[in-house]
Amino acid sequence: MTARISNFVRSPERIQGPDNGAECQAHGRYTEAKVELFEGSYLDAGCPACHFSGLRTSPDGSEQHRQALQVEQARKLNVLLIGSGITPRFRDATLDNYLTGGNARMTAVLDRCREFAENFPEHYQAGHSLLLVGNVGTGKTHLGSAIAQHVIRAHGAQAVIVSAAQIIRVAKGAMARNAQYTERDVIEELAGFDLLVIDEVGAQSGTEYERGLLHEVIDQRYQQVLPTVLISNLSADATAAADGELTLQDFIGERALDRLRQGGRAVRFTWGSARGGVSA
Ligand SMILES: [Zn+2]
Repeated sequence: MTARISNFVRSPERIQGPDNGAECQAHGRYTEAKVELFEGSYLDAGCPACHFSGLRTSPDGSEQHRQALQVEQARKLNVLLIGSGITPRFRDATLDNYLTGGNARMTAVLDRCREFAENFPEHYQAGHSLLLVGNVGTGKTHLGSAIAQHVIRAHGAQAVIVSAAQIIRVAKGAMARNAQYTERDVIEELAGFDLLVIDEVGAQSGTEYERGLLHEVIDQRYQQVLPTVLISNLSADATAAADGELTLQDFIGERALDRLRQGGRAVRFTWGSARGGVSA
């Protein structure tokens, strides 16, 4: 963790009780705190001295040590989940509850996403990316959120999902006169996550500046051999688009698109479209 304040990763909210409002039999009075959980509820943090001694001074293998370790693990997981940017709407979105209705194309897409999430350590090592392109309302954000959550829970990795609009808004904030961060900070932070999921690429206007910025983020991650999942309603390029239709290539540039495609991991959501024939 860097000292710099994150522009994309939120910490669990902490609600402090009155000073010394609670009492521990072993440690006396302490200040109670409730900590926000990813699931939406709040949990009593308990006596900090109990947790500290369980973690640091109780003998290995003792019940207190075991319990404190468990609490510590749950806290780390909660920090990653809340920091992931998965919204309450997609909190319960998993690979298991993505409904394919037996549709062969949807099943194939789900299989690709599952393979990516379950074998994340390999894909991380190789810097493989995933491109989810296709029509509105086909569950791409559901799958992007599910991949991020799986990667966090199963592999303990830091996965973050952000919309392209959010990246652009934060980067533009760096130009404000009293800004506490630079555009470089924004790109460096986005280039540091184990997995970055960029949602809704192409929903914004796609100015030269925006394209350059998204290209830079993707390129920085590529240079560091880090995986990126990119989600867009646009067709990938002109070969898959109707005449005159804007494509993903228009938004992020040809080079960035090539980088995301390396390893052949483009997943098309073609059902529900005029081209796909099957409605979702
Ligand atoms: Zn205590």
